[in-house]
Amino acid sequence: MSKIVVIGSSNTDMVVKTNRFPNPGETILGGTFFMFAGGKGANQAVAAARMGGDVVLVAKVGNDIFGKQAIEGFQKEKINTSYISTDFEKASGTALIIVNERGENKIVVASGSNDTLSQEDIMKAATEIEMAEVVLLQLEIPVSSVVFAATQGLKTESKVILNPAPAQELPDEIYPNLYLITPNETEAQLLTGIEVKDDESAREAADMLLDKGVRNVIITLGARGAYFHNDYQSFFVDAPQVEAVDTTAAGDIFNGTLAVALAQKKDWRSAIELACKVASLSVTRMGAQASAPFLSEISSASD
Ligand code: ADP
Repeated sequence: MSKIVVIGSSNTDMVVKTNRFPNPGETILGGTFFMFAGGKGANQAVAAARMGGDVVLVAKVGNDIFGKQAIEGFQKEKINTSYISTDFEKASGTALIIVNERGENKIVVASGSNDTLSQEDIMKAATEIEMAEVVLLQLEIPVSSVVFAATQGLKTESKVILNPAPAQELPDEIYPNLYLITPNETEAQLLTGIEVKDDESAREAADMLLDKGVRNVIITLGARGAYFHNDYQSFFVDAPQVEAVDTTAAGDIFNGTLAVALAQKKDWRSAIELACKVASLSVTRMGAQASAPFLSEISSASD
């Protein structure tokens, strides 16, 4: 099996569906309350495990019920939890999510223990990183830990993928360590200053990321699919048209699936087609990890 080490956050998502988002200062009555396991690192780990990856999750939880439930959840998914450490002072990460009638979301994250995932915590998993085909990173843990993890991954010749979410500035030193960066349109704009609004601007933004030293770029474009760009080829992949119910974690499921496909040495186009297919299926159902499809649900057409 293809080994994937995901280094990142674990959160508990508290979700309310409403007809519309409240305005500042306004209280509205929402619909049903849901509680889901979330956090970008954990979501990507679960998505990868469900797609058949051999996944190790390096994360940090608090000494509380949310942390314990999260670890139990990962174990059910057959994710290796040996490198999930506990912060005895900070609470486990939580996210407050409002989803409107169109499936759009607004999210506030209280990082808690994710904020103390350190270089030492990552070093405990050094052997796993060394053996991994893919190291998958996001930005819900300290950026210094992300930079460190990318450097470690590069040293051991694993493919280092950074999903630069949530959007934030990155130190220049990280780019040459990245095999692949996978921003969405907002993140691509923050990293390059180019507003990604059409094919031409997607190409310009991706070019700028290559200039910074990344080897491959995928810009995810929501319902439109994704754009791939490297020094040799560039192309768009359409996402299947679906009725979106909740787009929370679409990017995470895209990245988790992509990590498995690349670890299995699929070519770029088949890997991205599969990631679009799996992510688009996930937006037809509620929740983050809860919405991640299983390999058995995906037809063999994309193999
Ligand atoms: P993020 O969730 O990080 O903002 P995107 O919105 O770009 O990322 O979505 C990631 C991927 O999920 C897209 O490339 C696409 O494959 C799929 N996706 C997202 N929204 C939709 C949608 N409304 N319909 C179909 N596929 C979608």
